[in-house]
Amino acid sequence: MELIDGNHIAGAIIAELKAEIATLPGRKPCIALVRVGEDPASVSYVKKKEKTAVEIGVTSRVILPPIGITQSELFALIDDLNADPAVDGILVQSPLPKTIEEVAVFRRVAPHKDVDGFNTINLGKIAQEDETGFVACTPAGIIELLARSGVDLKGRHVVVLGRSLIVGKPVALLALQKKAGANATVTICHSATTNLPAITRQADVLIAAIGRAEFVTADMVKPGAVVIDVGINRVADPTRKNGYRLTGDVQFATVAPLCAKITPVPGGVGPMTVAMLMRNTVKAFRLGAASR
Ligand code: NDP
Repeated sequence: MELIDGNHIAGAIIAELKAEIATLPGRKPCIALVRVGEDPASVSYVKKKEKTAVEIGVTSRVILPPIGITQSELFALIDDLNADPAVDGILVQSPLPKTIEEVAVFRRVAPHKDVDGFNTINLGKIAQEDETGFVACTPAGIIELLARSGVDLKGRHVVVLGRSLIVGKPVALLALQKKAGANATVTICHSATTNLPAITRQADVLIAAIGRAEFVTADMVKPGAVVIDVGINRVADPTRKNGYRLTGDVQFATVAPLCAKITPVPGGVGPMTVAMLMRNTVKAFRLGAASR
């Protein structure tokens, strides 16, 4: 079994981007990070994104609207960022308060600044295999992680567990694309799928993104499979100072010995998400510069 080291691979991408940004003349790429509320995971994700941006020479503008912001006020804030020529990329951290319709907010971000890749236009561009779009960061990170680990998806059976707009659907579409590194046969499973283990056992590459701690057990995995664990679940652990530990959607201890390759949690897909966000921000800057 080989461990796919997301920290190492993401570190290499971050170093490549830092070198690329250093060569850019004039102003540097700029990302606006919008966080509403104090959800602890969101606080730590935005901090990490801000820290990485600073590290590679991307200007970050962190915007913290009050928790009581209305949807129309948030729209107005996004409209201002859409119109601001000094801002290349906009990320609105999920989850938003229940009073705000998240998908409507994702749609409000201008497609050419949508570095999170959740806007309808950018999701559509994945289906159309249009390279001018922005691919959502976690799915893009999964495909990059596989490519840089020497896993060619061509002709392989990829089973995706989960059909969210953020992970499951876009990663399935990416694996399905008719281009080098993709060309997989893809099955998507969800909560209404019957006889799930019989399907997951057919996977050459199993991508688990359901948000259920240690859901995928050894009996659900074909020996020799590649397993990508996207899940980030907080499980109570009184022995830890913070009272919890992070675990994936895969029962690592029993599944890892069976696999050809597997990602750990933490240290697998997570770091790739931030690296892909930075890559999208540089892409937005370059596309913007070309049209200025
Ligand atoms: P969602 O809750 O939006 O989607 C979960 C999906 O899993 C749904 O499609 C759901 O089915 C399916 N599902 C839930 N339970 C089962 C079950 N028992 N059997 C089969 N399918 C099931 O989650 P996300 O896609 O946003 O995130 C998934 C996980 O990935 C989470 O742990 C999240 O924290 C993590 N994540 C990690 C990231 C990273 O950077 N590493 C980034 C984003 C997410 P249905 O559609 O039928 O409800």
